[in-house]
This record gives sequence, structure tokens and C-alpha cells, in this order.
Amino acid sequence: MTKGDKKRQKIFEKYRDNLNLLIENSLIEETKELFICPICLEKHADITSDNPLTLEDAPPKSLGGKANTLTCKKCNNTCGHQIDFHLTERLRELDNAKFPNNSETKVRIKIGNETFNGKIKVENDGTMKMFHSKKNNHPEKLEEEMVELKAGTIVDLNFLKSRVIPEKLEYAILKSAYLLAFEKFGYSLILDKNFNIIREQLLNPEERLYPSGFWFTPPYPKELCGVYFICDKGLECLLAMFMLETEHSSRMFGAFLPLPINPIEEVVGKLNDKLNEEKEFKLSLYPMEQDEIDYIEDLENIKAMFRWLEQRAK
Ligand SMILES: [Zn+2]
Repeated sequence: MTKGDKKRQKIFEKYRDNLNLLIENSLIEETKELFICPICLEKHADITSDNPLTLEDAPPKSLGGKANTLTCKKCNNTCGHQIDFHLTERLRELDNAKFPNNSETKVRIKIGNETFNGKIKVENDGTMKMFHSKKNNHPEKLEEEMVELKAGTIVDLNFLKSRVIPEKLEYAILKSAYLLAFEKFGYSLILDKNFNIIREQLLNPEERLYPSGFWFTPPYPKELCGVYFICDKGLECLLAMFMLETEHSSRMFGAFLPLPINPIEEVVGKLNDKLNEEKEFKLSLYPMEQDEIDYIEDLENIKAMFRWLEQRAK
């Protein structure tokens, strides 16, 4: 067994046992001894199959996330290509627009009447250099213009058109938030029908389903990262906050997720109305000590959570 296999097996057992615990205590109805892919809900009796369970990084590994959960290979691949790419690419663009040290940005350069493809490289000490290659440009035209180019000539720079699709960037934020909620609460919350909209959104990134205005950049310190309950009456939902870290920057993101109390469209709508009216308002978050409460194995905590959900749903 490789190190990766051991890790997969450990995560598999942790969430399988969580599912068993919930079933044994009649908190949910399901079949025992399974791991259910949080994205497509496919049931797995072990980590190997035609569509094996794979380590999933939430947030994406390239943005500082850790592989603490599993999704099936199909979901892992599809979401990676179709969704996560847009988030990593946007953060790269935001970084590069500031020309940080140790970076490389593709640009179009207009010299005279000709446009060439080039690269701007910023070195360790901040020195900025512009590169162009004969391979990516018309060699003769490039030669001609370069000969004419004198010191002090102003050249026009244009960034390449972004490949980022804004909606898909949002779905990537949604995916990371959702997987962090699964990591923390196991199966007690996500199997509820109020979460179907998230799974449908992640599996159908071409169609907008999840309400807009569900994410924001919280003005909080890094220590507040985690998944919280918003306990204000009528606004009950989950808030997942996490850092996205690149080589050059670090940003906090927050996303609202449903609870089995109110449909998420309603909650996000109300939260946005409130924000427009009041510009600033306080939300009651619970728990503030992220690591102190275990919702995977500790039956008393899980039961207390179910009691709270039931009371609020009335
Ligand atoms: Zn899946």
C-alpha cells in the first residue's frame, strides 16, 4: 500500500464510520458500510473500483488546500478541468497584473504598426525584462521593427484576453466551501435535499443554478477560517471561510451554504437585501472555536446539532 493509498483508506473509514453512526442512531436513512461521493452521491464499498475514490484537495492544492477528503475519480477530474481551472487562473491573472517579483506574464506588444507576442519577466530583484521570440512572431517583421526601435520609444502593452469564465470561478469557490463543510460535518448535513442544488451546480457548470451573491471576501483575520453556523433567525445557513494562497498573494473567501432549515435562495436573497440596506451588519456565528467541537465521531455533538436544526425548522 502506498502512502496515498493509506491516506485514502483512512479517510474512507472515517466517513464510512460517520455514516454508520448516523444510521445506527436513526439520524439519517441510508445503507451502512459505504462511502458516498459528496459530489455525485455514487456509493462506494471500498476505495478501489472502476471509478475509484481519489484524494480531493479543498481548496485546490495549487492554492494552498489540503487533501482531506475523497471524491470519485470522475468528479475529481471533471470538476478540476471545468471548474477549478477558472479560479486558479483568475488568481494568477490578479497576481500578474501587479508584476510581482519572480513572475512571467504573456502580453501583446505593439511596435510601430505591428503587433508581436511577448513575455514580461520580473526577476528576483524586481528587474523587468521583456522577451519576444522569432518562433511566436513573424521573424522578418520582428527583425525590421526591432532594428528601428530606439531607446525611449513607447511601446503599447496589452494583456492577453482572459480565459476565465466568471460563473465557473464562482462554482470553484462553491465547490471548495462545500467540500470543507463535508470534511467538518460528514454526512449529517450534506445528504439533505437542500444540498442538491450544490451538487447539481457542480455537475452542470454550464447552467446557473446557485443564487448569485453567495460568496464574498470577508474582512476577517486568517484565524477565523472554518465552517460556521449562522444562527440569526431566518438567516440560518452555513458559512465556510477559507484562504486561497498563491506564490504572491493570500486572500480570504467566504461562501454561504444551505442548512436543512431554509432554501439557500431565500437566505442568500435576505442576506444581500440586508447588506444593501445596512451596508454593515453583524451575524451570529457558531462555533467560534473551530477545533473544539467534533461533528464526525462525537455522537452528543451530532445529536445536539440535529436538535437545533429541528427546532429552527419548525
Ligand atoms: Zn462523484
